[in-house]
Amino acid sequence: MASSSSPVTGHSSLSPCPAFIDGEWREISGVEKTPVYNPSRGEVIAEVPACTKEHVDQAVESAAAAFPAWRDTPPVERARLFFRYRQLVEENFDKICQSVSREHGKTLAEARGSAYRGIENIEYACSAPTLLMGDTLENLARGVDCETMLQPLGVCVGITPFNFPAMVPMWMFPLALVCGNTFILKPSEKVPLTALLIIELLAKAGLPKGVLNVVPGGRESVDALLTHPKVKAISFVGSSPVAKYIYETGTRHGKRVQANGGAKNYVVVMPDADVQRTVEALSTAAFGCAGERCMAGSTAIAVGKAADRVLPTLVEAARAIKVGPTDVAQSQPDMGPVITSQHRDRVFSLVESGAKEGAKIIADGRGVKVPDAPNGFFMGATIVDQVQDGMTIAREEVFGPVLNVMRMDDLDHAIEAANKSAYGNGAAIFTNSGKAAREFKNRVKAGMVGINIGVPATMAMFPFTGWDESFYGDLHIQGKEGVQFYTRQKVVSTRWFGEGVGDVWKK
Ligand code: NAD
Repeated sequence: MASSSSPVTGHSSLSPCPAFIDGEWREISGVEKTPVYNPSRGEVIAEVPACTKEHVDQAVESAAAAFPAWRDTPPVERARLFFRYRQLVEENFDKICQSVSREHGKTLAEARGSAYRGIENIEYACSAPTLLMGDTLENLARGVDCETMLQPLGVCVGITPFNFPAMVPMWMFPLALVCGNTFILKPSEKVPLTALLIIELLAKAGLPKGVLNVVPGGRESVDALLTHPKVKAISFVGSSPVAKYIYETGTRHGKRVQANGGAKNYVVVMPDADVQRTVEALSTAAFGCAGERCMAGSTAIAVGKAADRVLPTLVEAARAIKVGPTDVAQSQPDMGPVITSQHRDRVFSLVESGAKEGAKIIADGRGVKVPDAPNGFFMGATIVDQVQDGMTIAREEVFGPVLNVMRMDDLDHAIEAANKSAYGNGAAIFTNSGKAAREFKNRVKAGMVGINIGVPATMAMFPFTGWDESFYGDLHIQGKEGVQFYTRQKVVSTRWFGEGVGDVWKK
């Protein structure tokens, strides 16, 4: 069934989850379906169809057919469409944030914060006419001028994770499209509904048919996209093993790939750090969004007496965090559920492994009860102290509301411990010493560094610079690197002979 009207109003109790192909909303039937949960209630709210290679082929053909006209649309016009889109996103902001809270479990405040990071990407994309300017050099040689042109690639693809249902897709398609590419979005099968909502608004802003297509699904649709000969570039955000697979498969098939992976981010706390401010920042870094952030501060390294100064207040703060359902208008909790019951079980077992391997659980959120939402996937804030290098919980990305604490004698050992990580997304230091901060920022092995900032995630105008197993590729998402990723340069050298036609040159 195909329709160009809204996908968001359905008749059954399940929200519809169509594909968006060639400017039409298509209900996909006869394929396997995966349940989407409201994690606050443990209830199924939709079923995502597993789009097949056939659906992907249709989406890619539509995007390829739309490319020539979209590429030739002046950048000011493409940008103007995104000004309209920004306005529509702003007008529908509450609806988008409620959708994020319902299918992901973020609190409304967290949903708003992250949706704003998405809007900033739309705003950045609105500078397309400036972002796409090339360079020129007059008289490269005598009578020869040289210029660079930034041209789009063609059909680009975005494959997104569950943890930022609005923001991460917005990291990708606004910039890809203003650069003149067409796009196919494959949203996370755990949170497809917000993606459909934000794309519905893009269609309302006047996007020509085929310029953006959405194919919900899982591995089959991803593999069809990775290997399709007409796909030119792939942006991916998700876990490291999948990021590596996407990078290897995509590049083997001749595509440009940027693939953000998982993380394990260290926050070094020096003995001279301001206790209250450090505790507030650490608590937000570790437990904000229930720890389901690639920039979560998941391990605190307390240097010298920092543990004695900071831990008692931190434990108190963790225990005070109110956990509850986020799909409510009033009485929002401080922290919502994690994404699925299986994920919660995995987090529980990692905490248990820490205890078995000799760490001490000094705040335990595993027994938390939420009487008004007994089936939700809840867990309270948890702190695991005296974590040692080599423990399972020290190595693996936990992706839940769990803070590991390691204790070190000095800054050298703290940096050494942080630098052992296979990942390299973020790292932070809390200190009053400029010298310690300088040493840390120069030597720590991470692409995004915070000094007295717990979550140094970059905003739209800066690249999201993960290192090592947190990123596979060359050009990062966002900022000027994002523009470079979505364009290729042409260098044109020009020389003109003769003196023109007629007598125009000589009086
Ligand atoms: P995931 O890797 O399980 O899934 C991400 C996407 O890949 C989804 O669209 C999914 O359908 C697809 N996918 C999953 N397995 C696949 C496979 N075997 N083959 C092909 N496609 C597959 O990640 P997730 O659980 O949705 O998200 C959480 C992860 O994302 C965490 O590791 C987190 O650190 C990471 N993340 C990283 C960043 C960053 O910028 N570095 C940002 C957000 C999230």
